[in-house]
Amino acid sequence: MSNGNNNGWETVIGLEIHAQLSTESKIFCGCSTRFGDEPNANTCPVCLGLPGALPVLNRRAVELGARAALALGLKINHRSIFARKNYFYPDLPKGYQISQFDQPFSANGTLEIMTARRDEAGHPQEWQPKTIRITRLHLEEDAGKNVHEGLPDVDRFSYIDLNRAGTPLAEIVTEPEFRNSWEAHDYVNHVRRALRWVGASEADMEKGNLRCEANVSVRRAGDDKFGTKVELKNLNSVRFMQRAIEFEVERQIALIESGGRVLQETRLWDERAGETRVMRSKEEAHDYRYFPEPDLAPLVVSDEFIENVRAAMPELPEARRQRFMEQYQLSFSDASQLTAERSLADYYEKAAEISGNARAAANWIRSELLRELEAAGITAGESPVSATELGQLLRVIEEGKISGKQAKDVLVEMFKTGKSAATIIEEQGLVQVSDTGEIDHIIDDVLAANPGQLQSYRDGKETLFGFFVGQVMKASKGKANPRIVNERLKAKLAG
Ligand SMILES: [Zn+2]
Repeated sequence: MSNGNNNGWETVIGLEIHAQLSTESKIFCGCSTRFGDEPNANTCPVCLGLPGALPVLNRRAVELGARAALALGLKINHRSIFARKNYFYPDLPKGYQISQFDQPFSANGTLEIMTARRDEAGHPQEWQPKTIRITRLHLEEDAGKNVHEGLPDVDRFSYIDLNRAGTPLAEIVTEPEFRNSWEAHDYVNHVRRALRWVGASEADMEKGNLRCEANVSVRRAGDDKFGTKVELKNLNSVRFMQRAIEFEVERQIALIESGGRVLQETRLWDERAGETRVMRSKEEAHDYRYFPEPDLAPLVVSDEFIENVRAAMPELPEARRQRFMEQYQLSFSDASQLTAERSLADYYEKAAEISGNARAAANWIRSELLRELEAAGITAGESPVSATELGQLLRVIEEGKISGKQAKDVLVEMFKTGKSAATIIEEQGLVQVSDTGEIDHIIDDVLAANPGQLQSYRDGKETLFGFFVGQVMKASKGKANPRIVNERLKAKLAG
């Protein structure tokens, strides 16, 4: 992925995110939002759009919409209006979608994200803050789904599943703020983490409860006017989004440089072919004829409502990252990694407290624990080794009962078997030898077995110290306490 240096061309990207709010029922009726039920099982006259059915706003959807807005640092309008967005499509039985238009739930906000240029391998270089202007965050209902696969006669028929129709969404739209696909990547990840963190949305792109669209254009560096933008859809992961943006930027630059003109159109990303394809052009674009939804009163939220929502929210990720840096002396990158997800941040704080060593807890979680969690495909909240158990394991190392190397094997075993550290240490006889007499005895044997090296060392070849440490550790089968081996070996070699 490039950082947007394209020989005098500048990339301009705006993003729209649709996040499904984690309510149990739909936004304007009591039907379940459960995923994976029998097609059309969760429907009623309201979400089927039957004549005379009236929508009733789900209070929980408004609360979660407010959580989403507050988690992104956005202001909530005390009064917003639902509007009908009129268009015809088979998955939209009413013939219109209830959304918000000129008086949305939140408008004209700003959001500060951290973003970094990447090296060739995609590793972040220096992280920098960047302010993103958020045009709007509004509430709306989702449409149903057309099904073209897995059913009889799909070559002749299309099927419609309306279970999803009426599911609450928050749509978050940015100004054209991004200059390369990494900035877009960092923004989407920021939003995704924030929404998950406060429980507003599962925000899982693979499950489709977070969907993203990108408006992409290019212009000559220094131009004030934007180029013609193309809307990209079907971006089912952050990676696909980046690939689609990169493809599109190259396509547009090549088109203009060869004397062509970019057309305003909607294009779909085809991951298999690795290209974008025209879905519809401007000429086919809809005129939605928005007008206020007559069946719903204006949405009025009081300061008290907003404050109650805010008070029920956890400490937000950026605040927590900052606190981790100050309270535990962690670097920005360590603190960022440990606040990538709320259950991981909780896990870290608990392990730091139990172990009494915040630095060791950070190191162990970042290297050993995360590797096991990733391999198992689970979150810190689901870890078979609890934060308390990890904290206790770190204490055992601190007390010199087992070595760090032994502890790594113990952790893997704990992860596999769910047994406690104490049980595994006992079962495997993994006790570190800290008895000075015993270690002295091993050292004497090693020195006696290597008279040549001993002479060289005493003649001034001090680099041989490491050799002796290695021999002693080997003779103790890795059980000798390295700190004591070092101390005693120095004394013996000197004498
Ligand atoms: Zn319904």
